[in-house]
Amino acid sequence: LEAKLANALKKIKGQALITEQDALEVLKNIKFALLEADVNYKVVKDIEQELKDKLIGKQIEKNLTPFQTIVDIIHKELTQILGDESSNLIINSKPFVVMLVGIQGSGKTTTCAKLARLLKSKGRQVLLVACDIYRPAAVKQLQTLGKQLDIPVFSKENTKPQDIALESLQYAKANGRDIVIVDTAGRLQVDTQLMQELVEMKEAIKPNEVLLVVDSMIGQEAVNIAKKFDENVGISGLIFTKMDADARGGALLSIKRIVGKPIKFIGVGEKISDLEQFYPDRIASRILGMGDILTLIEQAKNQIDEKEQKQLQKKLKKNQFTLDDFLNQLKKIQKMGSITSIIKMIPGLNKIKMADTNEFDIELKRITAIIQSMTKKEKENYKIIDASRKRRIAKGSGTDVQSVNKLLKQFEEMNKMMKGLDKNKALHIMKNLGR
Ligand code: GDP
Ligand code: MG
Repeated sequence: LEAKLANALKKIKGQALITEQDALEVLKNIKFALLEADVNYKVVKDIEQELKDKLIGKQIEKNLTPFQTIVDIIHKELTQILGDESSNLIINSKPFVVMLVGIQGSGKTTTCAKLARLLKSKGRQVLLVACDIYRPAAVKQLQTLGKQLDIPVFSKENTKPQDIALESLQYAKANGRDIVIVDTAGRLQVDTQLMQELVEMKEAIKPNEVLLVVDSMIGQEAVNIAKKFDENVGISGLIFTKMDADARGGALLSIKRIVGKPIKFIGVGEKISDLEQFYPDRIASRILGMGDILTLIEQAKNQIDEKEQKQLQKKLKKNQFTLDDFLNQLKKIQKMGSITSIIKMIPGLNKIKMADTNEFDIELKRITAIIQSMTKKEKENYKIIDASRKRRIAKGSGTDVQSVNKLLKQFEEMNKMMKGLDKNKALHIMKNLGR
């Protein structure tokens, strides 16, 4: 264990930049996480390569370990890939026309109603249009939803979908409706007839937005579907449904990357209110599957505030860093959870045997107990502790004299080492001690 600690300290001491080895090791885990989240293999390969170039030689962030720095950079990168374009609907014409397209069962009809509800709640006059004439139940479904929301539904029998859509625009204009949401038919698979119908409809009504509704549960296949719809009909954005299910959301990253269209909303349940704005950083966390670690990184970043930093700096300069300060640092570590629980959250460190990490936790508790058994004077100047006091401290902390000696020796060595360093480096080590 001591060797491990010494090694870790050496690493932190000498290393202010991310090395290739660090980058590769973390990337191996990230790659696995992305594949597990069902991100397209080629996308994973590309991102891996780009990240590698970005990571190596990057400065390790002040309050973070190399591992945390890397995960933080990757999270930011994924967030950017997912959402570097505006994901809001910019309503700039009247009527503003939205066409929802997608394969059968993806959630088009439900999403039409959800979107209508959202826009109505913002004071818009919405008109729903039922253009899925192939399944009688589909028109009924939209009518039921419309009734529930008190939003009119335009439909027409024995008319081609393209013509229904076109007529609905006239109805909207005549009835003061400023947003038109068109529900369209889907097939079990993408087929040419469906595409042709959508192309004709698009040409007829010239919608402001053509949004592809994608079931996030279908995984890899989503990429092909999105590609086909974009090539044939042309889409302006995407809505991912069923994000409440346990899909990790890799399809969002793949599609954003391959098709390049913005994700506008996500569906998060069967209820009509279950439509959310798309937050790229949240989805990036979800795809990484490292929510806990990202929380940890946030915590670590906020761990040492500036005032405290200045005080520590002063102390280090004057050689006044005491066992009490040491204890405070340890407490901070413990506030973040036990070392065991922290390590458990970090996939890359799973290799460390749990026995070792438990030992680490026990060691931390032991050190805390020992320091707490000292008097104030002793904590300020450990050199006054004599043999009899050592025995008392050992007894008071439920340890033995050997442990007390070991701690004092470690503290002495740490102090010596810090004297030899410039203050910034020393501070860096302090902050990273526990991590
Ligand atoms: P369409 O064939 O594309 O019009 O799909 P529907 O709107 O009829 O939806 C198909 C099924 O998916 C229905 O049972 C919906 O309740 C369900 N659904 C749609 N969106 C969501 C969602 O975000 N979460 C969940 N859990 N179910 C959804
Ligand atoms: Mg439908």
